[in-house]
Amino acid sequence: MKEITDGPLYQNVLQNLEEAGRVIKIKENSLERLKYPRRAITVSIPIKLRDNKIKTFSGYRVQHNQILGPFKGGLRYHPEVNISETAALAALMTFKNSLLGLPLGGAKGGVRINPDSLNQIELERLTRGFTNELTPFIGHDKDIPAPDIGTDAQTMAWMLDTYSQKSGFSQTGVVTGKPLEIGGSQGREAATGLGVCLIMERALDARNKKIKEATIAIQGFGKVGLHAAKESYKLGGKIIAISDFETGLFDQEGLDIPKICDYLKKHKNLKDYPKVEKISNEDLLTLDVDVLAPCAVSNVINHTNVSKIRAKIVIEGANGPVTTDASNELHRKGVLIVPDILANGGGVVVSYFEWVQDIVWLFWSEEEVNNKLRTIMYRSFDKVWRFSQENNVNLRTAAMGVSLKHLEKALLLRGLSW
Ligand code: NAD
Repeated sequence: MKEITDGPLYQNVLQNLEEAGRVIKIKENSLERLKYPRRAITVSIPIKLRDNKIKTFSGYRVQHNQILGPFKGGLRYHPEVNISETAALAALMTFKNSLLGLPLGGAKGGVRINPDSLNQIELERLTRGFTNELTPFIGHDKDIPAPDIGTDAQTMAWMLDTYSQKSGFSQTGVVTGKPLEIGGSQGREAATGLGVCLIMERALDARNKKIKEATIAIQGFGKVGLHAAKESYKLGGKIIAISDFETGLFDQEGLDIPKICDYLKKHKNLKDYPKVEKISNEDLLTLDVDVLAPCAVSNVINHTNVSKIRAKIVIEGANGPVTTDASNELHRKGVLIVPDILANGGGVVVSYFEWVQDIVWLFWSEEEVNNKLRTIMYRSFDKVWRFSQENNVNLRTAAMGVSLKHLEKALLLRGLSW
Protein backbone atom coordinates (compact mmCIF):
# COMPACT_ATOMS: atom_id res chain seq x y z
CA MET A 1 0.00 0.00 0.00
CA LYS A 2 3.06 2.31 0.12
CA GLU A 3 2.53 3.58 -3.43
CA ILE A 4 -0.96 4.54 -2.30
CA THR A 5 -0.31 6.10 1.08
CA ASP A 6 2.75 8.09 -0.06
CA GLY A 7 0.74 10.38 -2.37
CA PRO A 8 0.36 14.03 -1.28
CA LEU A 9 -3.45 14.04 -0.92
CA TYR A 10 -3.37 10.73 0.97
CA GLN A 11 -0.72 12.18 3.30
CA ASN A 12 -3.01 15.21 3.88
CA VAL A 13 -5.88 12.89 4.79
CA LEU A 14 -3.67 10.88 7.17
CA GLN A 15 -2.47 14.09 8.82
CA ASN A 16 -6.08 15.23 9.40
CA LEU A 17 -7.06 11.77 10.60
CA GLU A 18 -4.27 11.62 13.16
CA GLU A 19 -4.86 15.16 14.37
CA ALA A 20 -8.60 14.60 14.91
CA GLY A 21 -7.82 11.16 16.39
CA ARG A 22 -5.70 12.85 19.07
CA VAL A 23 -8.54 15.25 19.91
CA ILE A 24 -11.12 12.47 20.39
CA LYS A 25 -8.51 10.15 21.97
CA ILE A 26 -9.24 7.43 19.43
CA LYS A 27 -7.99 3.93 20.24
CA GLU A 28 -4.85 2.89 18.39
CA ASN A 29 -6.64 -0.14 16.90
CA SER A 30 -9.45 2.00 15.50
CA LEU A 31 -6.97 4.37 13.86
CA GLU A 32 -5.09 1.44 12.34
CA ARG A 33 -8.36 0.13 10.84
CA LEU A 34 -9.13 3.49 9.22
CA LYS A 35 -5.72 4.36 7.80
CA TYR A 36 -5.68 2.02 4.80
CA PRO A 37 -8.15 1.23 2.03
CA ARG A 38 -9.81 -2.17 2.12
CA ARG A 39 -9.29 -2.86 -1.58
CA ALA A 40 -7.62 -1.04 -4.50
CA ILE A 41 -8.64 -2.34 -7.92
CA THR A 42 -6.65 -1.45 -11.05
CA VAL A 43 -7.96 -2.48 -14.46
CA SER A 44 -7.00 -2.12 -18.14
CA ILE A 45 -9.70 -0.92 -20.48
CA PRO A 46 -8.82 -1.57 -24.13
CA ILE A 47 -11.22 0.19 -26.52
CA LYS A 48 -11.56 0.52 -30.27
CA LEU A 49 -11.05 4.15 -31.35
CA ARG A 50 -12.50 5.91 -34.39
CA ASP A 51 -9.29 5.21 -36.41
CA ASN A 52 -9.86 1.45 -35.88
CA LYS A 53 -6.90 1.20 -33.46
CA ILE A 54 -7.09 -0.27 -29.97
CA LYS A 55 -6.00 1.99 -27.12
CA THR A 56 -5.79 0.83 -23.52
CA PHE A 57 -6.70 3.08 -20.59
CA SER A 58 -6.11 2.56 -16.86
CA GLY A 59 -9.10 2.49 -14.53
CA TYR A 60 -9.23 2.40 -10.74
CA ARG A 61 -11.75 1.76 -7.99
CA VAL A 62 -10.61 2.05 -4.41
CA GLN A 63 -12.93 0.80 -1.66
CA HIS A 64 -11.81 2.34 1.58
CA ASN A 65 -14.17 1.23 4.33
CA GLN A 66 -17.62 -0.39 4.59
CA ILE A 67 -18.19 -0.47 8.32
CA LEU A 68 -21.32 1.71 8.06
CA GLY A 69 -22.80 0.27 4.84
CA PRO A 70 -22.08 -0.35 1.13
CA PHE A 71 -19.13 1.51 -0.42
CA LYS A 72 -20.20 4.76 -2.08
CA GLY A 73 -18.33 7.38 -4.11
CA GLY A 74 -17.86 9.04 -7.48
CA LEU A 75 -16.07 8.08 -10.69
CA ARG A 76 -13.75 10.59 -12.31
CA TYR A 77 -12.57 10.81 -15.94
CA HIS A 78 -9.51 13.06 -15.89
CA PRO A 79 -5.96 12.89 -17.32
CA GLU A 80 -4.40 13.17 -13.86
CA VAL A 81 -6.32 10.34 -12.16
CA ASN A 82 -3.97 8.05 -10.23
CA ILE A 83 -4.33 5.31 -7.64
CA SER A 84 -3.08 7.30 -4.67
CA GLU A 85 -5.32 10.32 -5.24
CA THR A 86 -8.25 7.96 -5.85
CA ALA A 87 -7.54 6.23 -2.54
CA ALA A 88 -7.35 9.55 -0.68
CA LEU A 89 -10.70 10.57 -2.16
CA ALA A 90 -12.13 7.15 -1.19
CA ALA A 91 -11.01 7.71 2.41
CA LEU A 92 -12.59 11.17 2.39
CA MET A 93 -15.87 9.52 1.33
CA THR A 94 -15.74 7.22 4.36
CA PHE A 95 -15.30 10.21 6.66
CA LYS A 96 -17.89 12.31 4.80
CA ASN A 97 -20.59 9.63 4.94
CA SER A 98 -19.96 9.05 8.61
CA LEU A 99 -20.04 12.77 9.38
CA LEU A 100 -23.36 13.18 7.54
CA GLY A 101 -24.84 10.19 9.37
CA LEU A 102 -25.42 8.13 6.19
CA PRO A 103 -25.44 4.30 6.29
CA LEU A 104 -22.70 4.14 3.64
CA GLY A 105 -18.99 3.40 3.39
CA GLY A 106 -16.39 5.17 1.24
CA ALA A 107 -15.04 4.51 -2.25
CA LYS A 108 -13.81 6.42 -5.29
CA GLY A 109 -12.80 5.54 -8.82
CA GLY A 110 -11.67 6.92 -12.10
CA VAL A 111 -10.12 6.52 -15.50
CA ARG A 112 -6.92 8.29 -16.53
CA ILE A 113 -8.26 9.98 -19.65
CA ASN A 114 -9.12 13.41 -21.00
CA PRO A 115 -12.79 12.76 -21.79
CA ASP A 116 -12.80 15.64 -24.30
CA SER A 117 -10.42 13.61 -26.48
CA LEU A 118 -13.07 10.91 -27.05
CA ASN A 119 -16.32 11.13 -29.00
CA GLN A 120 -19.62 9.83 -27.55
CA ILE A 121 -19.24 6.36 -29.07
CA GLU A 122 -15.73 5.98 -27.66
CA LEU A 123 -16.84 7.28 -24.26
CA GLU A 124 -19.66 4.74 -24.21
CA ARG A 125 -17.22 1.92 -25.08
CA LEU A 126 -14.85 3.09 -22.36
CA THR A 127 -17.61 3.24 -19.76
CA ARG A 128 -19.02 -0.16 -20.70
CA GLY A 129 -15.53 -1.69 -20.66
CA PHE A 130 -14.79 -0.18 -17.25
CA THR A 131 -18.14 -1.39 -15.89
CA ASN A 132 -17.48 -4.92 -17.16
CA GLU A 133 -14.23 -4.99 -15.20
CA LEU A 134 -15.86 -3.56 -12.07
CA THR A 135 -18.95 -5.81 -12.17
CA PRO A 136 -17.76 -8.33 -9.54
CA PHE A 137 -17.11 -5.50 -7.09
CA ILE A 138 -20.14 -3.19 -7.49
CA GLY A 139 -23.89 -3.55 -6.84
CA HIS A 140 -26.66 -1.80 -4.90
CA ASP A 141 -25.61 -3.60 -1.69
CA LYS A 142 -21.83 -3.64 -2.38
CA ASP A 143 -20.52 -0.46 -3.99
CA ILE A 144 -22.53 2.30 -5.69
CA PRO A 145 -20.65 4.68 -8.05
CA ALA A 146 -21.82 8.22 -8.94
CA PRO A 147 -20.66 11.05 -11.25
CA ASP A 148 -17.63 13.22 -10.48
CA ILE A 149 -15.24 15.31 -12.61
CA GLY A 150 -15.63 14.43 -16.29
CA THR A 151 -18.56 12.04 -15.83
CA ASP A 152 -22.31 12.72 -15.79
CA ALA A 153 -25.80 11.22 -15.79
CA GLN A 154 -25.18 9.66 -19.23
CA THR A 155 -22.07 7.86 -17.91
CA MET A 156 -24.21 6.45 -15.09
CA ALA A 157 -26.91 5.36 -17.56
CA TRP A 158 -24.34 3.34 -19.56
CA MET A 159 -23.00 1.79 -16.35
CA LEU A 160 -26.49 0.86 -15.18
CA ASP A 161 -27.29 -0.73 -18.53
CA THR A 162 -24.02 -2.72 -18.76
CA TYR A 163 -24.40 -4.01 -15.20
CA SER A 164 -28.10 -4.84 -15.76
CA GLN A 165 -27.34 -6.75 -18.99
CA LYS A 166 -24.92 -8.97 -17.08
CA SER A 167 -27.33 -9.69 -14.23
CA GLY A 168 -30.33 -10.25 -16.53
CA PHE A 169 -32.66 -7.67 -14.97
CA SER A 170 -32.77 -3.93 -14.41
CA GLN A 171 -30.59 -2.83 -11.51
CA THR A 172 -31.34 0.84 -10.98
CA GLY A 173 -29.73 0.96 -7.52
CA VAL A 174 -26.23 0.12 -8.79
CA VAL A 175 -25.38 3.78 -9.53
CA THR A 176 -26.68 7.18 -8.47
CA GLY A 177 -26.70 10.48 -10.34
CA LYS A 178 -28.49 8.81 -13.26
CA PRO A 179 -31.24 10.38 -15.42
CA LEU A 180 -34.73 10.71 -13.88
CA GLU A 181 -36.28 8.43 -16.51
CA ILE A 182 -34.27 5.43 -15.30
CA GLY A 183 -34.52 5.82 -11.53
CA GLY A 184 -32.71 9.11 -10.85
CA SER A 185 -33.79 11.46 -8.09
CA GLN A 186 -35.27 14.91 -8.31
CA GLY A 187 -32.72 17.43 -7.08
CA ARG A 188 -29.62 15.23 -7.60
CA GLU A 189 -28.07 17.39 -10.33
CA ALA A 190 -28.07 20.53 -8.18
CA ALA A 191 -27.53 18.79 -4.83
CA THR A 192 -23.80 19.34 -4.28
CA GLY A 193 -24.04 23.00 -5.31
CA LEU A 194 -27.15 23.54 -3.20
CA GLY A 195 -25.35 21.90 -0.27
CA VAL A 196 -22.39 24.27 -0.76
CA CYS A 197 -24.83 27.18 -0.68
CA LEU A 198 -26.62 25.93 2.48
CA ILE A 199 -23.27 25.55 4.23
CA MET A 200 -22.23 28.99 3.00
CA GLU A 201 -25.37 30.45 4.61
CA ARG A 202 -24.57 28.75 7.93
CA ALA A 203 -20.90 29.84 7.84
CA LEU A 204 -21.92 33.43 7.09
CA ASP A 205 -24.40 33.27 9.98
CA ALA A 206 -21.54 32.21 12.24
CA ARG A 207 -19.76 35.41 11.16
CA ASN A 208 -22.95 37.48 11.67
CA LYS A 209 -23.44 38.12 7.99
CA LYS A 210 -26.36 37.38 5.67
CA ILE A 211 -25.86 35.90 2.21
CA LYS A 212 -27.63 38.99 0.76
CA GLU A 213 -24.80 41.18 2.04
CA ALA A 214 -22.01 38.85 0.92
CA THR A 215 -19.58 39.00 -2.00
CA ILE A 216 -18.73 35.56 -3.40
CA ALA A 217 -16.10 34.13 -5.79
CA ILE A 218 -16.49 30.61 -7.17
CA GLN A 219 -13.73 28.65 -8.93
CA GLY A 220 -14.99 25.89 -11.24
CA PHE A 221 -18.28 26.18 -13.11
CA GLY A 222 -19.16 22.52 -13.53
CA LYS A 223 -21.68 20.35 -11.69
CA VAL A 224 -20.75 21.80 -8.30
CA GLY A 225 -19.73 25.41 -9.04
CA LEU A 226 -22.56 26.21 -11.44
CA HIS A 227 -25.26 25.11 -9.01
CA ALA A 228 -23.53 26.72 -6.03
CA ALA A 229 -23.58 29.98 -8.03
CA LYS A 230 -27.20 29.54 -9.13
CA GLU A 231 -28.46 28.77 -5.62
CA SER A 232 -26.53 31.57 -3.90
CA TYR A 233 -27.66 34.01 -6.62
CA LYS A 234 -31.28 32.96 -5.90
CA LEU A 235 -30.75 33.84 -2.23
CA GLY A 236 -29.41 37.30 -3.15
CA GLY A 237 -25.66 36.63 -2.89
CA LYS A 238 -23.43 38.87 -5.04
CA ILE A 239 -21.24 36.55 -7.11
CA ILE A 240 -18.44 38.77 -8.37
CA ALA A 241 -16.29 36.08 -10.02
CA ILE A 242 -16.64 32.60 -11.52
CA SER A 243 -14.30 30.52 -13.65
CA ASP A 244 -13.93 27.35 -15.63
CA PHE A 245 -10.69 25.60 -16.61
CA GLU A 246 -9.34 28.47 -18.75
CA THR A 247 -11.55 31.53 -18.28
CA GLY A 248 -12.67 33.62 -15.31
CA LEU A 249 -15.42 36.27 -15.41
CA PHE A 250 -15.39 39.24 -13.03
CA ASP A 251 -17.86 42.00 -12.16
CA GLN A 252 -17.56 43.89 -8.88
CA GLU A 253 -21.30 44.72 -9.09
CA GLY A 254 -22.23 41.04 -9.37
CA LEU A 255 -22.44 38.69 -12.36
CA ASP A 256 -25.76 37.81 -13.99
CA ILE A 257 -25.62 34.07 -13.21
CA PRO A 258 -28.86 32.99 -14.97
CA LYS A 259 -27.64 34.74 -18.15
CA ILE A 260 -24.28 32.93 -17.95
CA CYS A 261 -26.05 29.59 -17.39
CA ASP A 262 -28.23 30.23 -20.48
CA TYR A 263 -25.08 31.03 -22.47
CA LEU A 264 -23.53 27.70 -21.40
CA LYS A 265 -26.53 25.78 -22.74
CA LYS A 266 -25.35 26.80 -26.23
CA HIS A 267 -21.56 27.05 -25.68
CA LYS A 268 -19.05 24.57 -24.31
CA ASN A 269 -17.17 26.99 -22.05
CA LEU A 270 -16.87 30.60 -20.87
CA LYS A 271 -14.04 31.59 -23.25
CA ASP A 272 -16.04 33.85 -25.57
CA TYR A 273 -18.60 35.13 -23.04
CA PRO A 274 -19.14 38.74 -24.17
CA LYS A 275 -18.92 42.14 -22.41
CA VAL A 276 -17.60 41.01 -19.04
CA GLU A 277 -14.11 41.58 -17.62
CA LYS A 278 -11.94 38.44 -17.67
CA ILE A 279 -9.88 37.25 -14.71
CA SER A 280 -7.36 34.43 -14.36
CA ASN A 281 -8.01 31.46 -12.06
CA GLU A 282 -5.04 32.51 -9.94
CA ASP A 283 -6.36 36.09 -9.50
CA LEU A 284 -9.86 34.82 -8.71
CA LEU A 285 -8.49 32.94 -5.73
CA THR A 286 -6.92 36.07 -4.27
CA LEU A 287 -9.96 38.39 -4.55
CA ASP A 288 -11.06 40.34 -1.48
CA VAL A 289 -14.43 38.62 -0.91
CA ASP A 290 -16.56 37.41 1.98
CA VAL A 291 -16.70 33.88 0.57
CA LEU A 292 -14.35 32.00 -1.73
CA ALA A 293 -15.65 28.63 -2.91
CA PRO A 294 -13.04 26.56 -4.80
CA CYS A 295 -15.24 24.06 -6.67
CA ALA A 296 -12.84 22.62 -9.26
CA VAL A 297 -9.77 20.53 -8.40
CA SER A 298 -7.43 19.67 -5.49
CA ASN A 299 -4.55 21.70 -4.02
CA VAL A 300 -5.37 25.03 -5.71
CA ILE A 301 -4.64 26.89 -2.46
CA ASN A 302 -1.15 25.86 -1.38
CA HIS A 303 2.17 27.27 -0.17
CA THR A 304 2.62 29.29 -3.38
CA ASN A 305 -0.48 31.46 -3.00
CA VAL A 306 -1.72 31.10 0.59
CA SER A 307 -0.20 34.41 1.69
CA LYS A 308 -2.24 36.22 -1.00
CA ILE A 309 -5.65 34.81 -0.02
CA ARG A 310 -7.96 37.61 1.20
CA ALA A 311 -11.31 35.83 1.54
CA LYS A 312 -12.88 35.76 5.00
CA ILE A 313 -14.54 32.38 4.54
CA VAL A 314 -13.40 29.50 2.32
CA ILE A 315 -15.98 26.84 1.47
CA GLU A 316 -14.34 23.71 0.01
CA GLY A 317 -16.80 22.77 -2.75
CA ALA A 318 -14.10 20.64 -4.43
CA ASN A 319 -12.34 17.76 -2.71
CA GLY A 320 -9.06 18.81 -1.13
CA PRO A 321 -8.72 22.28 -2.73
CA VAL A 322 -6.66 23.63 0.20
CA THR A 323 -3.52 21.78 1.35
CA THR A 324 -3.28 21.02 5.07
CA ASP A 325 -0.42 23.48 5.64
CA ALA A 326 -2.20 26.26 3.74
CA SER A 327 -5.38 25.49 5.67
CA ASN A 328 -3.56 25.80 9.01
CA GLU A 329 -2.01 29.09 7.93
CA LEU A 330 -5.36 30.53 6.88
CA HIS A 331 -6.92 29.38 10.14
CA ARG A 332 -4.17 31.19 12.06
CA LYS A 333 -5.03 34.35 10.09
CA GLY A 334 -8.67 34.04 11.20
CA VAL A 335 -10.11 32.71 7.93
CA LEU A 336 -13.03 30.32 8.46
CA ILE A 337 -12.46 27.21 6.32
CA VAL A 338 -15.34 24.81 5.91
CA PRO A 339 -13.79 21.46 4.91
CA ASP A 340 -14.79 19.40 1.89
CA ILE A 341 -16.29 16.48 3.80
CA LEU A 342 -18.90 18.90 5.15
CA ALA A 343 -19.14 21.55 2.42
CA ASN A 344 -19.64 19.26 -0.59
CA GLY A 345 -21.65 16.58 1.22
CA GLY A 346 -24.93 17.57 -0.49
CA GLY A 347 -24.18 15.34 -3.48
CA VAL A 348 -23.81 12.14 -1.53
CA VAL A 349 -26.79 12.99 0.67
CA VAL A 350 -29.07 13.14 -2.38
CA SER A 351 -27.28 10.11 -3.87
CA TYR A 352 -28.29 8.32 -0.68
CA PHE A 353 -31.89 9.52 -1.19
CA GLU A 354 -31.75 8.28 -4.79
CA TRP A 355 -30.51 4.86 -3.67
CA VAL A 356 -33.28 4.61 -1.04
CA GLN A 357 -35.94 5.62 -3.61
CA ASP A 358 -34.63 2.98 -6.05
CA ILE A 359 -34.83 0.28 -3.39
CA VAL A 360 -38.43 1.06 -2.41
CA TRP A 361 -39.57 2.20 -5.91
CA LEU A 362 -41.22 5.28 -4.44
CA PHE A 363 -40.07 8.66 -5.67
CA TRP A 364 -40.10 12.01 -3.86
CA SER A 365 -40.75 15.53 -5.16
CA GLU A 366 -37.89 18.01 -5.55
CA GLU A 367 -39.27 19.94 -2.59
CA GLU A 368 -39.18 16.84 -0.36
CA VAL A 369 -35.63 16.05 -1.47
CA ASN A 370 -34.39 19.61 -0.88
CA ASN A 371 -36.08 19.87 2.52
CA LYS A 372 -34.49 16.62 3.68
CA LEU A 373 -31.13 17.77 2.26
CA ARG A 374 -31.39 21.10 4.13
CA THR A 375 -32.10 19.27 7.41
CA ILE A 376 -29.00 17.06 7.07
CA MET A 377 -26.66 19.87 5.94
CA TYR A 378 -27.70 22.26 8.72
CA ARG A 379 -27.57 19.50 11.34
CA SER A 380 -24.09 18.44 10.20
CA PHE A 381 -22.78 22.01 10.18
CA ASP A 382 -24.16 22.60 13.66
CA LYS A 383 -22.55 19.39 15.01
CA VAL A 384 -19.18 20.38 13.54
CA TRP A 385 -19.48 23.95 14.80
CA ARG A 386 -20.29 22.73 18.33
CA PHE A 387 -17.37 20.28 18.30
CA SER A 388 -14.99 23.04 17.17
CA GLN A 389 -16.17 25.37 19.95
CA GLU A 390 -16.06 22.68 22.66
CA ASN A 391 -12.60 21.43 21.67
CA ASN A 392 -11.12 24.71 20.45
CA VAL A 393 -10.12 23.27 17.07
CA ASN A 394 -10.65 24.39 13.47
CA LEU A 395 -13.60 23.13 11.43
CA ARG A 396 -11.47 20.59 9.48
CA THR A 397 -10.38 18.85 12.66
CA ALA A 398 -13.89 19.19 14.08
CA ALA A 399 -15.52 17.60 11.01
CA MET A 400 -13.05 14.72 11.13
CA GLY A 401 -13.56 14.45 14.91
CA VAL A 402 -17.36 14.12 14.61
CA SER A 403 -16.92 11.57 11.83
CA LEU A 404 -14.29 9.52 13.68
CA LYS A 405 -16.36 9.33 16.87
CA HIS A 406 -19.21 7.76 14.89
CA LEU A 407 -16.91 5.36 13.02
CA GLU A 408 -15.14 4.29 16.19
CA LYS A 409 -18.46 3.49 17.89
CA ALA A 410 -19.34 1.23 14.94
CA LEU A 411 -15.92 -0.46 15.06
CA LEU A 412 -16.25 -1.14 18.79
CA LEU A 413 -19.81 -2.44 18.48
CA ARG A 414 -18.83 -4.80 15.66
CA GLY A 415 -15.88 -6.07 17.66
CA LEU A 416 -13.35 -4.75 15.16
CA SER A 417 -11.54 -2.53 17.63
CA TRP A 418 -10.93 -2.50 21.37
P1 NAD B 1 -17.05 19.06 -13.35
O1 NAD B 1 -16.17 18.32 -14.27
O2 NAD B 1 -18.52 19.06 -13.59
O3 NAD B 1 -16.58 20.60 -13.24
C1 NAD B 1 -15.28 20.97 -12.93
C2 NAD B 1 -15.12 22.47 -13.22
O4 NAD B 1 -13.82 22.88 -12.84
C3 NAD B 1 -15.26 22.84 -14.69
O5 NAD B 1 -15.84 24.12 -14.81
C4 NAD B 1 -13.80 22.88 -15.17
O6 NAD B 1 -13.64 23.71 -16.32
C5 NAD B 1 -13.13 23.46 -13.97
N1 NAD B 1 -11.69 23.11 -13.86
C6 NAD B 1 -11.09 21.93 -14.14
N2 NAD B 1 -9.78 22.01 -13.90
C7 NAD B 1 -9.54 23.25 -13.40
C8 NAD B 1 -8.40 23.93 -12.96
N3 NAD B 1 -7.19 23.33 -12.97
N4 NAD B 1 -8.55 25.19 -12.51
C9 NAD B 1 -9.74 25.80 -12.50
N5 NAD B 1 -10.88 25.20 -12.91
C10 NAD B 1 -10.78 23.96 -13.37
O7 NAD B 1 -16.73 18.48 -11.90
P2 NAD B 1 -17.63 18.60 -10.59
O8 NAD B 1 -18.49 17.40 -10.50
O9 NAD B 1 -18.23 19.96 -10.54
O10 NAD B 1 -16.53 18.42 -9.44
C11 NAD B 1 -15.73 19.49 -8.99
C12 NAD B 1 -15.11 19.12 -7.65
O11 NAD B 1 -16.13 18.84 -6.69
C13 NAD B 1 -14.21 17.88 -7.64
O12 NAD B 1 -13.19 18.05 -6.70
C14 NAD B 1 -15.16 16.79 -7.20
O13 NAD B 1 -14.48 15.68 -6.63
C15 NAD B 1 -15.95 17.53 -6.15
N6 NAD B 1 -17.25 16.95 -5.85
C16 NAD B 1 -18.19 16.74 -6.82
C17 NAD B 1 -19.43 16.23 -6.48
C18 NAD B 1 -20.52 16.06 -7.50
O14 NAD B 1 -21.64 15.72 -7.09
N7 NAD B 1 -20.27 16.29 -8.77
C19 NAD B 1 -19.70 15.90 -5.15
C20 NAD B 1 -18.72 16.13 -4.17
C21 NAD B 1 -17.51 16.66 -4.54
